Amino acid sequence: MTDDLQYCYCCRVHHPRDQMRLYPTRAGHRWRCVRSIEAARLDRQSRDAFGRQQTRINHETSQRQAAWNLLQRLGKTL
Ligand SMILES: [Zn+2]
Repeated sequence: MTDDLQYCYCCRVHHPRDQMRLYPTRAGHRWRCVRSIEAARLDRQSRDAFGRQQTRINHETSQRQAAWNLLQRLGKTL
């Protein structure tokens, strides 16, 4: 029974051995479950996607601001 379980350093509980993978950490290889590895991977992906989107929004905002500044300047000179 206990032979089929492996302690997961990520969840701090025991999972069935077939869900466990040796995961490289700074402290060496640790047992970690597939689910937590996958969750961390998806989390990183969505954070990256969010960062990219945020960069694009910032870019568009600054472009709109630049266009607005230009219109203001033209309005004053006309
Ligand atoms: Zn786990």
